[in-house]
Amino acid sequence: MTKSSEHPRSSEHSVVVVGAGYAGVLAANRILAARDRARGDDPARNCRVTVVNPRAQFVERIRLHQVAAGTRASATLPLPDVLHADAQVIVGEVRSIDADRRCVEVTTADGVVPLGYDTLVYAVGSGTAHSVPGSGEHAHHAGDDAATSALRAALAALAPEAVVRVVGGGATSVEIAAEVAAARPDLAVEIVSADRVLGFMRPRARARIMRTLTGLGVTCREDTRVARVGAHELHTAEGAVLPFDVCVWAAAFGVPDLARRSGLATDAAGRLRVDATLTSVDHPDIVGAGDAVAVAPEVGGHLRMACATAMPLGGHAATTVLARIRGRALPVLSIGFAAQCLSLGRKAGYVQLVRADDSPRPLAAGGRLGATAKEAICRMTVDKLRAERARPGAFHAPKGPAPAARPRIEETSR
Ligand SMILES: Cc1cc2nc3c(=O)[nH]c(=O)nc-3n(C[C@H](O)[C@H](O)[C@H](O)COP(=O)(O)OP(=O)(O)OC[C@H]3O[C@@H](n4cnc5c(N)ncnc54)[C@H](O)[C@@H]3O)c2cc1C
Repeated sequence: MTKSSEHPRSSEHSVVVVGAGYAGVLAANRILAARDRARGDDPARNCRVTVVNPRAQFVERIRLHQVAAGTRASATLPLPDVLHADAQVIVGEVRSIDADRRCVEVTTADGVVPLGYDTLVYAVGSGTAHSVPGSGEHAHHAGDDAATSALRAALAALAPEAVVRVVGGGATSVEIAAEVAAARPDLAVEIVSADRVLGFMRPRARARIMRTLTGLGVTCREDTRVARVGAHELHTAEGAVLPFDVCVWAAAFGVPDLARRSGLATDAAGRLRVDATLTSVDHPDIVGAGDAVAVAPEVGGHLRMACATAMPLGGHAATTVLARIRGRALPVLSIGFAAQCLSLGRKAGYVQLVRADDSPRPLAAGGRLGATAKEAICRMTVDKLRAERARPGAFHAPKGPAPAARPRIEETSR
């Protein structure tokens, strides 16, 4: 690798954001809004932001279950609706990162193009497609927009009494099962889970949600591990065969293998390993945010894959990038949670207030109030992305727990 092949440093600082999800959009907007406010000889005045995303739309992933069940027409917004007007958008997919040359290769409709950077923001998110055992093509994936259109069509085509099995016992699985059952009471909807459904929730909250699921006609098959998804049947580790008309895979999210393929340090799941400032542990020019990163445990041990995590991580990634541009000390991450929230169809929901470390507080709202609160939170996410275009820091999350209070949470989704 010769020096001459590297992306040359100039007075302009080029930031490339890979992925226009919650983390990537927030990061891009905060950097550009800070640039707009920079004065005098602040080097932030000279930064430029390019966002690479496979499509020209922002996907509100937290609403995909609504699209799948047919209770919402779409969960996409044109990128200009949420992105700062000065963000240059390249519609394409980054297929490799050459960290030594500070360059990415982007596959676009016009072919593969190289793109140099001074700082890269790695925010490629997650999906369920990466984690289905056996033959993945027989399951519909809960986590991405393209798969959601096919799932919506498959559900709409089902005759009454058809069987829908939703695999996974976490919040995403429950939201999908409830949304489908509420929209289509004529279908038999069952959650199949390797352990207890929502086992991470406090017993009272869980009991209330389970009652709502029962009221919607959703059944739960717990302690059942799916070993393989076949054509129209689930094969369990215990040897049972469970037929289905539609299977929705909503078990653990997996991440794209871009970081691993590019030779960057990752954890076992392929998430980019970042330190307490969100800088890649082996490449100082790469900053990560969102579902696709594994944050140093001393500041990120309590974090789960969630929009509620991706947005504050995106905000912090922007702050780290701005500190790099300004030659200042990089800020250490401190983010915590305020609530866990679930929709249970359009008429019910559950919002559990939590401490910064994500442990429950004895305060929650269920039923219609829960549904209203959850809907307000969904709207707030997009409102805050937009607000960051004009005011860096418009979105802020609670501070993280004190180091001694941080539990290590193994749950990988939501
Ligand atoms: C049905 C459902 C309901 C959910 N509900 C909630 C909820 O209520 N609350 C909550 O907190 N979380 C919820 N989540 C989880 C939440 O959606 C994710 O945690 C969140 O989207 C992560 O944000 P992100 O920015 O890291 O990634 P994403 O939102 O996944 O965005 C990543 C972006 O990167 C792009 N990308 C990927 N690879 C490349 C590449 N090689 N080159 C360029 N671009 C690339 C993707 O196309 C995408 O646009 C839900 C998820 C699902 C599926």
